Amino acid sequence: MKPTVIVTRKLLTPEPIERLAERASVRLWEEDRKIDRDALLDWIADADGVLSMLTDSIDTAVLDAGASLKVVSNMAVGVDNIDLVTCADRGVKVGHTPDVLTDTTADTAWMLLMAASRRMLEGIDTVREGRWGPWDPTELLAHDVSGTTLGVVGLGRIGLAIAKRSAGFGMDVRYTARSARPDAEAAGFRHVPLHELLSESDHVVVAVDLNDQTRGLIGAAEFAAMKPTANLVNVARGPVVDTDALVEALATGSIRCAGLDVTDPEPLPADHPLASLPNCLIIPHMGSSTWRTRTAMANIAVDNLIAGITDKPLPHQITVP
Ligand code: NAP
Repeated sequence: MKPTVIVTRKLLTPEPIERLAERASVRLWEEDRKIDRDALLDWIADADGVLSMLTDSIDTAVLDAGASLKVVSNMAVGVDNIDLVTCADRGVKVGHTPDVLTDTTADTAWMLLMAASRRMLEGIDTVREGRWGPWDPTELLAHDVSGTTLGVVGLGRIGLAIAKRSAGFGMDVRYTARSARPDAEAAGFRHVPLHELLSESDHVVVAVDLNDQTRGLIGAAEFAAMKPTANLVNVARGPVVDTDALVEALATGSIRCAGLDVTDPEPLPADHPLASLPNCLIIPHMGSSTWRTRTAMANIAVDNLIAGITDKPLPHQITVP
């Protein structure tokens, strides 16, 4: 008998599911929204594997319900939606999709960095709302990107790709990480403590994974340390930044602007204070959303799932720290 797997969301193309169906009996959540919690808890009871999205909470209750579960394959690089410790305790392997989304997410960070810094949102609104008058030498003045200092909080795969993209902009680069990276130092990027990075950077890009140490990493004290002209970009996870502190910092001019791909909460209600700030540019978690990248992510997620249900090491397996 074939093993049973759950796929919690339709994938971009049918091929990965077809490949999976050759080896497993597949239960696919067909609706264009996240899987109902009750359906997940019900379906997982006899599942050997689950292909999950970052919006699915794979917590103790789900793992308790999935007594025969061998593998959780997340279609994301971040695995903060999964209880890794319980998975490790129960011998459930966890897979993720690194590397293939690195460039696309780094591009998103730069799109936000430039658009927020150069007041793109206000410029677009000016045109769309019919407020575009004769050219005015003082209208929508912004701050430069070229020749400034970039601070990257968390120099992993995506952080490094973001830092490398600064080469064409003649920027100084500072970064934080738990330890200095020789490849980054060789490229001229400087490893500094967080508060030094915050006080020296014109553009601060957050690229850490969400974990117990990084939850709320950027809060009131960190905004106070930043330049009043600073631009904060977050392409990591919303809860790395304290939302109330960010609203306060943007509203009071403690920092100049922000560009966010991720927020806390997510989705952000349209009437949330953050959503109406003119100096805050927000897009709805689109970091990896290109056809090529999402297709590659789906394929890796299926590869991980197939390996897990056939008792092989996953091509991209998470080890619990
Ligand atoms: P990664 O290579 O694991 O990079 C994460 C980095 O964060 C690592 O270098 C890690 O340092 C560092 N870090 C962790 N805790 C830290 C701390 N307390 N202080 C300083 N640095 C710390 O992962 P990645 O592939 O670059 O992805 C990073 C994150 O981006 C993912 O976890 C995900 O949440 C997010 N992401 C978002 C999108 C999106 O759509 N917006 C897309 C992809 C990824 P160590 O090496 O020392 O552990």
